[in-house]
Amino acid sequence: MTPVLALVGRPNVGKSTLFNRLTRTRDALVADFPGLTRDRKYGQASYREMEYLVIDTGGIHGGEEGIDAEMAGQSLQAIEEADAVLFLVDARAGVTSADEAIAGHLRRLEKPVFLVANKIDGVDADVVTADFYSLALGDVHGIAAAHGRGVNQLLETSMAPF
Ligand code: GDP
Ligand code: MG
Repeated sequence: MTPVLALVGRPNVGKSTLFNRLTRTRDALVADFPGLTRDRKYGQASYREMEYLVIDTGGIHGGEEGIDAEMAGQSLQAIEEADAVLFLVDARAGVTSADEAIAGHLRRLEKPVFLVANKIDGVDADVVTADFYSLALGDVHGIAAAHGRGVNQLLETSMAPF
């Protein structure tokens, strides 16, 4: 079975940027996998010899209404479909209440969750990632999705269970 990784987090943390980076060496087509709806964006990717599927989601704030609720619903669906979740936060913004709300949900999951602090370019990665240990999701993986920094280490860790 092809492992499925879901990218979740509040809007603007860099989920789509990471999605594009992970899928760009492949045709980033919406994959034709049975049982998966078209409302979320699916892409095929590979790391070393391992093929996997990535799901991009619109974003989740915690405590949503209206269109936001729709987006959050998509994220929850993606989390359901995934074998592992990459939870993205903005390293420059620090922990927000939305991050805390999402983390609360993810801590209850029985599947692997990897906490990813994006946008560490131009800042001290150790300093900015330290804040996110308060989310109690274990290690904080610092990356710069826009530039690729940290992405291979992140994949090494997040593909390890598969
Ligand atoms: P999404 O809403 O979570 O999908 O976030 P996007 O991927 O659309 O990115 C939101 C903004 O953050 C865009 O302006 C990106 O260019 C920017 N961004 C994404 N990754 C990085 C990064 O690694 N470093 C910096 N400095 N900006 C980034
Ligand atoms: Mg996006």
